[in-house]
Amino acid sequence: MNIAIIGGGISGLTTAFYIARARPDVRLHIFEREAHLGGTMYTREIDGFRFEIGSNGFLSNKPDTLDLVHAAGADDLLLRSSDDSRIRFIFHDGELQRLPESPPLFLKSKLLTLRGKLRVAMEPFIRAKTDDRDETLQSFGERRVGKAFTDVFLNAMSAGIYGNTPEILSVNAAFPMVVALEREYGGLFRGMIKKKKKEAGPGGVLMSFKGGVGAFVEHLRNTLPAEFHIGSGVERIEAKDGAYRLHFDDRTLEVDRVVLSTPAYAAADITADLDPALSNALAGIDYTPISVVGFGWNALPHPLHGFGLLTTAAAKQEVLGVLWDSSVFADRAPDGKKMVRIMIGGQRQPELAMQSDEELIATGLRGLRATMGIDTPPDVRFVQRWERGIPNYRVGHLAQVAQIRKLADPHPGLYLNSNAYAGIGINDCVRNSRLAAERVVAELDA
Ligand SMILES: Cc1cc2nc3c(=O)[nH]c(=O)nc-3n(C[C@H](O)[C@H](O)[C@H](O)COP(=O)(O)OP(=O)(O)OC[C@H]3O[C@@H](n4cnc5c(N)ncnc54)[C@H](O)[C@@H]3O)c2cc1C
Repeated sequence: MNIAIIGGGISGLTTAFYIARARPDVRLHIFEREAHLGGTMYTREIDGFRFEIGSNGFLSNKPDTLDLVHAAGADDLLLRSSDDSRIRFIFHDGELQRLPESPPLFLKSKLLTLRGKLRVAMEPFIRAKTDDRDETLQSFGERRVGKAFTDVFLNAMSAGIYGNTPEILSVNAAFPMVVALEREYGGLFRGMIKKKKKEAGPGGVLMSFKGGVGAFVEHLRNTLPAEFHIGSGVERIEAKDGAYRLHFDDRTLEVDRVVLSTPAYAAADITADLDPALSNALAGIDYTPISVVGFGWNALPHPLHGFGLLTTAAAKQEVLGVLWDSSVFADRAPDGKKMVRIMIGGQRQPELAMQSDEELIATGLRGLRATMGIDTPPDVRFVQRWERGIPNYRVGHLAQVAQIRKLADPHPGLYLNSNAYAGIGINDCVRNSRLAAERVVAELDA
């Protein structure tokens, strides 16, 4: 039995891991187009500074990634974020303001006017939406907690998580748990209080890996009993007598099952001959451009005390946020040195993401000066452009995914699993990949 996993990001590797664990008899082939595994989960080291090209960690309040780490024997690699990283800032109204972590701090915060705060306090009295229609995060936020809260907190949060804006994001696809609170408990506060009572326990802590997220990817690679085809992009697949034939590097390989763990646009190319309707539907998922600019300093007077900052659209800045990585995870910069990563572009300013390296560096430096008053020239610079960085979960995304699943159904042994469909966080990808592996294994055993 041969199974091909196409795409060596965290989704593909996790799917492979759980298939291999349940069915050691299966021969796994992992295809990765780039020269390294990990997809957006990869670490570049420059002069001792460790720059994540994409994700830098995951929260411990969902068990999925921690379970995988444990099952893969990588507990020793886990790295907890510093306690100071709970301190977060929003740049709004021309100044850096601390994100309130408790109700008393919220009441004192200058991020909202008294009127804005009173509107938030009205939330328990707002009637719950009764239909299942998809809606933007903006519309959901304005309904439940008011426009002022939405324009500051939800605006900054959607830039920080999705590189997106609340006017575009589908709340149902991007924040299903929040929608569930309204549906199941009638409101957000009510839901949060009841859920807290049920699930009394510590909140989530941001976790990562010693040496950067790439260290865990490397560990998975070394644990996986698979044949790796790195630097080999699969161009297309065709159905062949109940199996699939893969075309790559002027070669072919016949396999019994295929898991497509690539971005949706790549899955669209790969399935173009196999099923044009499925391919078209996959191509319908668009992506958000976003770039990461990193700076390292041998000496920087700014204390970088906290996790970093996010900006609001109203603040009219050129950067979406600045992550103070060396304060969050101690081993990201050599002793005594500091580093940050700056997010640029997103759906707020897509044109900024695709600037040249020099322009991105200049934009990053201007952003640092405007939001944090930093003028010190960096000693190390890093740029990573993502033309199609994060799937754009816009309104209608869930219906789009349901349609894709329906079109994929008539292809036995073909599975679709990546961050394009049901969650972009590492925890979401790991959970969905474990479920995909369980489905593959159940169908093999049937
Ligand atoms: C800038 C940025 C910051 C982020 N920060 C965080 C964070 O802090 N925390 C968090 O939880 N999440 C974060 N995310 C999201 C998270 O990193 C991703 O959603 C997740 O890593 C996606 O994994 P994946 O395997 O589904 O897809 P990918 O990582 O995109 O992997 C897909 C792989 O498929 C390969 N591929 C494509 N075409 C082919 C082909 N034809 N043949 C073979 N291989 C192919 C690609 O090269 C790629 O390696 C961030 C994302 C970005 C872009």
